[in-house]
Amino acid sequence: MRGFFSKESIQPKGGEMRGFSCASCGLYKSALTPKMEPYGNFRKRIMVIGEAPGEDEDRRGKPWQGEAGRILQRKYKQLGVDLFEDCISLNAVACRPTDKKGATRTPTNQEMSCCRSKVTQAIRKYNPRIIILHGNAPTMSLIGYKWRRDFGGITKWQGWNIPDREYEAWVCPTFHPSFVMKQEEQNEVHVIWTRDLERAFNKLEEPFPDSGIASEEESIIFAQDMEEIMERLDSPGLMAFDIETTGLKPYDRTKHRIVSISFCNHYDYAYVIPFPTKPKHLRMLKQLLENPTIGKIAANMKYEDNWLNVLHDIRVNPWAFDTMQAAHILDNRPGITGLKFQAYVRFGVLGYDEEVDPYLKAKSSNEVNRIMELVNSPEGFRKLMLYNGIDSLMEYRLAMKQMEELGIQG
Ligand code: URA
Repeated sequence: MRGFFSKESIQPKGGEMRGFSCASCGLYKSALTPKMEPYGNFRKRIMVIGEAPGEDEDRRGKPWQGEAGRILQRKYKQLGVDLFEDCISLNAVACRPTDKKGATRTPTNQEMSCCRSKVTQAIRKYNPRIIILHGNAPTMSLIGYKWRRDFGGITKWQGWNIPDREYEAWVCPTFHPSFVMKQEEQNEVHVIWTRDLERAFNKLEEPFPDSGIASEEESIIFAQDMEEIMERLDSPGLMAFDIETTGLKPYDRTKHRIVSISFCNHYDYAYVIPFPTKPKHLRMLKQLLENPTIGKIAANMKYEDNWLNVLHDIRVNPWAFDTMQAAHILDNRPGITGLKFQAYVRFGVLGYDEEVDPYLKAKSSNEVNRIMELVNSPEGFRKLMLYNGIDSLMEYRLAMKQMEELGIQG
């Protein structure tokens, strides 16, 4: 359980470098321009990452020299950006991948892994303000390796401008120009591509949202009990809250319980306590969650609603906002409504669930998970509570953003 939330805990397990080198990839042997260097004058500190060099690039020794490059240059120019003057370009794989007949092919995941350290070194060396990822390959290479859930492909990632904390830059995935040029002119892909790039370039004006705020870990206050929570919350108008439980469904009361609960009514901190057991504290919790003047926020409110109702006869009232439903209203793509995805794409917060997550998975909906293993170890319980607190914090921050986007007054 070491390294919770540390940088190491979000790095790939087993060491991404081991076994992934130019020697094990071998593409450099057949390339005319092996290990192609980044190219461009980088005046606006934009880094552009493509898939891999094609035939034209390999022959001329620099990126974006063929048809896809011309389309890209034209689109960037339309949006006020000169591809070779304002940006620096490189590829997820630095050597041209070819098939047996010598034709260009898509790079494999293995080839991307072998080249990833080259790309991350370039990011560290140039320190770009925005990084545009064109297509699946660079998105897989830079995000897929650390996103441990379903990667889902470029259609899930395209359009988000991610304040990525590892790269300390806005990471902006969008389509590859060769995909766009294959679409009919009336196809919405053209419109979406233009909009993605426009929004990404606008990030040049926006400061990177960094360390001004405390880290999520520092933002969690471990309170004693409900009395302390009531003092600290100070009559919020809106409050996010989140519970950790022994499974997915609470119906078997002989096996199931809620082990902790967190609350957040402020952008900068959240509170967490072990779930109350004393009748007096349970009454206070009921009063808080049923207080008609406090609007409640959750990520997937039916979950909190059900557990509290079935096990403790608490009827949460009023529900004010659900970040999962709001995410779906704002963007109806599949796979994007979960709190962890939203926390990463909107706030760059990634991996805070990593150590705890295996203990929260149950085999089926009525089964118990392994949460009690955490509860029964002081360090494990602290980590669970921290995780629980960060969930509320993320819910609150996300709800505030979504309300703004939906034009709802908080
Ligand atoms: N396609 C890419 O992905 N990169 C290039 O450099 C050229 C075409």
